[in-house]
Amino acid sequence: MDMSENNPLLRPSDAPFGAPEFDKISKDDYMPAFEEAIRMAKEEVDAIASNPEAPDFANTIEALEYSGQALSRVEGIFFNLLEADGDEKMQQIAEEVSPKLTEYSLYVSMNGPLFERVKAVKENPGSLDATRRKLLDETYRSFVRSGAGLPEEKRAEFGKLMEQLSLEELRFSNNLLAATNAFEMVLTDEADLDGLPDYVREAAAEAAREKGREGWLFNLEFPSFGPFMKYSARRDLREKMWKAYNSRALGGDNDNTALISGIVGMRMKMANMLGYETYADFALEPRMAKTRGTVEDFLRKLTDPALPVARKEISELEAYARQNGFGDSLQPWDFSYWAEKRKKELYDIDDQLLKPYFRLEKCINAVFGLATRLYGITFEQRHDIPVYHEDVRVYEVKDENGDHLALFYADFFPRDTKRGGAWMTEFRGQYMQGGKDFRPFISIVTNFSKPAAGKPSLLTHGELETFLHEFGHSLHGMLSRGTYPSMCGTNVARDFVELPSQIMENWAYEPEYLDTFARHYETGETLPAEYIKKIMAAKNYLSAYYHIRQLQFGIIDMAWHTLTAVPEEGVEAFEKRVLGPFATLPAIEGTAVCPSFSHIFSGGYSAGYYSYKWAEVLEADAFSMFSENGIFDRRTAASFRSNILEKGSSEEESVLYKNFRGHDPAPEALLRKLGII
Ligand SMILES: [Zn+2]
Repeated sequence: MDMSENNPLLRPSDAPFGAPEFDKISKDDYMPAFEEAIRMAKEEVDAIASNPEAPDFANTIEALEYSGQALSRVEGIFFNLLEADGDEKMQQIAEEVSPKLTEYSLYVSMNGPLFERVKAVKENPGSLDATRRKLLDETYRSFVRSGAGLPEEKRAEFGKLMEQLSLEELRFSNNLLAATNAFEMVLTDEADLDGLPDYVREAAAEAAREKGREGWLFNLEFPSFGPFMKYSARRDLREKMWKAYNSRALGGDNDNTALISGIVGMRMKMANMLGYETYADFALEPRMAKTRGTVEDFLRKLTDPALPVARKEISELEAYARQNGFGDSLQPWDFSYWAEKRKKELYDIDDQLLKPYFRLEKCINAVFGLATRLYGITFEQRHDIPVYHEDVRVYEVKDENGDHLALFYADFFPRDTKRGGAWMTEFRGQYMQGGKDFRPFISIVTNFSKPAAGKPSLLTHGELETFLHEFGHSLHGMLSRGTYPSMCGTNVARDFVELPSQIMENWAYEPEYLDTFARHYETGETLPAEYIKKIMAAKNYLSAYYHIRQLQFGIIDMAWHTLTAVPEEGVEAFEKRVLGPFATLPAIEGTAVCPSFSHIFSGGYSAGYYSYKWAEVLEADAFSMFSENGIFDRRTAASFRSNILEKGSSEEESVLYKNFRGHDPAPEALLRKLGII
């Protein structure tokens, strides 16, 4: 019997809307499904590459775009469940399948005859509308960027370089991990714990016990390091911890400095081989920002007005410390400690105080209700759609006129098989094929605390914000009205994708919205106005300092990736020279950020760290339109929906944005939101 008729991952689904049949999938189905789906995908690619007809948009670009759908379906299910409900068996499958998937993607991107056809269409496109033209350009570009356009003899060299680069990036993160683990501080005299709250002491005692040690153990992992810097009254120990943290992988046994030079040099070479002057030019091409000039200008516009404000915040903090018995100048290891003390004094508000007002069930209704108020869409829970875990709920999402829009899966509570954090994902993205609109299956996964016996699940204000954030990504997926899968929903430039999510967080700070649902779960009392005021005031506490801190990361990232030669002065000296003009606290000899900056040296953020701030500007500027017209204004919402949420990347993101906002993203909107101007 044909395997694709047998395997619930491959055969057509009998569930309503063709939803994944989680109730029928067993873990043994994955590997055969992957193998069969890869075989089918290769067959489809071969058919395109060897098509005897002359290449054109439909038989090459469009055919390629719709190839490998069975594989996307299997991947969509497997990798989401690996994160949300993954056990050892799933891990094993992941390890087994990833080299096969890499091999398949090289099979496509390094396919000579296929590239020749894509190139022929690119050179002779015929008349295409804007979206098709964009798909053609992007398809061609992705081949070129992976080296397919290089002459034969250069292609092997390029492949080796890429392999070497990913190896060095991996070594960077391994070194950082080893350097982080190499340090620990064990305290045996209780007096050394001065200032630390009970929960920090207990965790440190537990950490010591686990290692068979006496006393209290602190290390450089954030849950240990962060609270120590915040609460320890022992300045000498804070200095010791801070210096250890900020000199990780800078020299010593796990030195990353040589790797940084190597990685930067290889990225430069890769970009040069493909015809770009610097790595940043290469990396920015597919993003909304497009050029390094735009990014550098952007960083400057955000830095210049904020730097004096950040320095003033630091001198005010120093003055506060002095009033409270501090007799020195403020050093980096003093910052968190005094910042926390002052924050507590100014805005005494904590999670425990707010939680009773944010009952999960009320928050779900309020988040759905916000979408109904803005976009007219409704949510109805369904019990006839298969789920992968009993905690998962499924909703059918309908448009204002009753049309089916999407399925929305919500998986709220933690369990051993779920990774930490919160995210939005999809089992199937929206797309159109053969005149049929395939509506999406969207999911959010969070780790909100589960209700205890007789008690409801209560969210912190931060968790409500997270919920709104992931729900914003979900709207981007659910409201999508595009054609080509790679240009639908959240498939947009990386520096644009956080706009729909971050903009939603704003509502968590609007009294007019909070008033509609924040009620004490026992007394029914509304969230007191003074709490709301405190939440809003605390939000901008030291905002210029934190803003500059993020910009410093963006500036050093761009500095490394716009080089045309690797500097000889060494990593620490380079960093101090670049960041010197933007310092807010004294620079400390023997410490540096770069050797532990895994975002840019081993993660996906090289020449991309700016995008955090970029997204903040987009959402601040976009939300100001709601502030101007009313936070529930239907006309503004309709425009956001039709210009942004429905569009995916069917047009340039800068055009989509301008169509909505009427102007280019304005950095001032963020500076204003942060209270800097
Ligand atoms: Zn996000």
